[in-house]
Amino acid sequence: MGAMNFQSILDEIHAELRPRLGQGGQVARYIPALARVSPHQFGIALRTCAGEVAQAGDSAVPFSIQSMSKVFSLTLAIRAQGEALWQRIGREPSGSPFNSLVQLETERGIPRNPFINAGAIAVADRLVSLGDGKAELLALLARLCGETIGIDDEVARSEAETGFRNTALANFMKGFGTLDNDVATVLDVYFNQCAIAMSCEQMACAAGYLCRDGRHPLAGAPVLSEAQTRRVNALMLTCGTYDAAGEFAFRIGLPCKSGVGGGIVAVVPDQLTLCVWSPALDETGNSWLGRQALELFVAKTGLSVF
Ligand code: GLN
Repeated sequence: MGAMNFQSILDEIHAELRPRLGQGGQVARYIPALARVSPHQFGIALRTCAGEVAQAGDSAVPFSIQSMSKVFSLTLAIRAQGEALWQRIGREPSGSPFNSLVQLETERGIPRNPFINAGAIAVADRLVSLGDGKAELLALLARLCGETIGIDDEVARSEAETGFRNTALANFMKGFGTLDNDVATVLDVYFNQCAIAMSCEQMACAAGYLCRDGRHPLAGAPVLSEAQTRRVNALMLTCGTYDAAGEFAFRIGLPCKSGVGGGIVAVVPDQLTLCVWSPALDETGNSWLGRQALELFVAKTGLSVF
């Protein structure tokens, strides 16, 4: 592992895949501010447990992290609530699209996992109850990557204006008693967390506690306990890429979390965290090129949890 030259591996992946930009996938259309993002962008960055960094392409360009934020909101909620969190949120893969409403009815308002939209909205409700809204999330991310992190207000507005399905999910859960707080307040946290902007380099650093048994990527102090970190990684592997999670485990074999901004963060426990970004999505809402980049990374390095 020490002998691996990560910079040349990322350069190779970038050179091999860049010509495919524009050949597949589509940018997310249902959020107007995301529909305007150029699909001709591709970045990749990693940071090892030893602090070595490597990057290629548009790795310093901030993008909308969208559902990748769900890892960090879950981290805050687990930290504050521990086991009690699981009384309101399940841990099973959904096998359904990220914005699906169907299982909520049969499961009496308990979302299947924290990474589908319903689950993340339930986590946002917990954060509101704890007084930990968007400011706390931004503060966590800034501490994790040592840089100021902001929200793209245009994306946040666009989400709020067109978030009919998320509003439906929140109201439906409220009807079952899953949410304690006012629906509009909870959705405000959710829409804003999705609109956080970060680069691949920042994300690869911020997620670093997930490959370090929960220790802070820069300071070493615990962000989560070892056991809690294992659980977040397990949820990323089984639920982090929605109804493509089985295929991701099969082809890539790493805990991953994607977002409809086109980013995917992946964890190689005890070794490194990696972030890829390219805005065009496949039909499951995962980055079309990002997925290929992760497959190639695993093929070239042999790194996998299996
Ligand atoms: N903001 C998006 C939504 O709520 C997040 C979904 C995603 O990234 N998968 O629909």
